Amino acid sequence: MNVLSQGRCAVFREPTGPSGVAIEQRPRTSAASGMVAVEIRSAALNHLDLWVVAGAQRVAPPRVLCADGAGVVAEDPSGRWRPGDEVVVYPVSCCWECDACRAGQQVLCPRFGILGEHTDGTACELLHVPARNLFPRPPGLTWEEAAAFPLTFLTAWRMVVTRARLRAGETMLVVGAGAGVAAAAIAIGRHLGARVLATSRSPAKRQRAADLGAEVTFDSSGFSEPVRQASRGGVDVVFEHVGPATLPESVRSLRRGGRLVFCGSTSGVRAELNLPRLFFGQADLLGSTMGNAAEFEEVLRAMGQGLRPTVDSTYPLEDVRSALERLDHAEQFGKVTLRVSA
Ligand SMILES: [Zn+2]
Repeated sequence: MNVLSQGRCAVFREPTGPSGVAIEQRPRTSAASGMVAVEIRSAALNHLDLWVVAGAQRVAPPRVLCADGAGVVAEDPSGRWRPGDEVVVYPVSCCWECDACRAGQQVLCPRFGILGEHTDGTACELLHVPARNLFPRPPGLTWEEAAAFPLTFLTAWRMVVTRARLRAGETMLVVGAGAGVAAAAIAIGRHLGARVLATSRSPAKRQRAADLGAEVTFDSSGFSEPVRQASRGGVDVVFEHVGPATLPESVRSLRRGGRLVFCGSTSGVRAELNLPRLFFGQADLLGSTMGNAAEFEEVLRAMGQGLRPTVDSTYPLEDVRSALERLDHAEQFGKVTLRVSA
């Protein structure tokens, strides 16, 4: 049950960054048993796509980009979906059959992967995807918003809700607020009724974080002291994806018994930690990647209650290189999306 990208596709060809991506035409075929063919309306880029096109993920080209997509069902041999049904794609590839998958722990599947990295992706006109990867498009979301939320909101939801168990009235610090996953974390924290603080190097991004509901924002250098002052001695939860550049300050920002949850390390893969601060502080360090199908359904329910992604910008599929460059220059706030068809 391999995910297949067909029609016009944005294809990673050479590990040279955005210039190594080309638009190609692939033949269209009928959906195999267990698969559904979806006409993609909108796809969204993630930082992951930049790593893929730079060769950092050791993905062998050719590979169609993007984990995130939303569109209209064209064909479902099983009859579960009807042509015209509007859907969003759960961006995880897994076997759906092993003990972990059957227990609803798709993130623990030995064949766990991400669309656009381990399989072909959503930056295409027609996507063949397992029926179990499809969910109804939440009402009230534009196509861009429907494509913008899956990976980042699924990742942030598992981190904030399942792993860090943030509760109403608690305080969460979101580090590096400009990233898509961080903007999702701010929105989810506010949705849960928590108090949210945020950091960013960029004054413009601090303003955007405040607009999303962050109560106080801080510059990225030396933020732990002002964070501790703003939270009466430290926050309950720190949301991290930056890694070595911010981790020591993030640990110093925790209250006693606080939880630090992290999904990435964009500033490098090795970090030094002050261990006494962690054990005397009774701290939890929680790693997390992506999320389960049931968590995706929780995100969909929250979208129905008003949770919304932030769309930074939209490019036609043909301009995928410009879209990748915008992401590469780190000027965006929220998601960079691709319009595939009207
Ligand atoms: Zn499995």
